[in-house]
Amino acid sequence: MNTPAYPIEKCRSCPTQIIWAVTERGRDMPVDAEPAANGNVALSTNDKGQVVARIVKPHLAFGRKDLRLPHFVRCPQADRWRQR
Ligand SMILES: [Zn+2]
Repeated sequence: MNTPAYPIEKCRSCPTQIIWAVTERGRDMPVDAEPAANGNVALSTNDKGQVVARIVKPHLAFGRKDLRLPHFVRCPQADRWRQR
């Protein structure tokens, strides 16, 4: 199976590459483009072509290499993200 490619852009507040995803509740969420060992977000594409972010429970995330972190975890402008 090929790794799906998601559109990557630069965060407006810092130099990090991010992927804009939509949560299961329909809210926009920036996710680090680079997978992280402690990531807990699984990305997929829905039938509308949107990137969907799903939070993976820790016991299911163990050993996975394709999970990412929400960008506000380390964005220096995280306070601004949370207010939106
Ligand atoms: Zn940022």
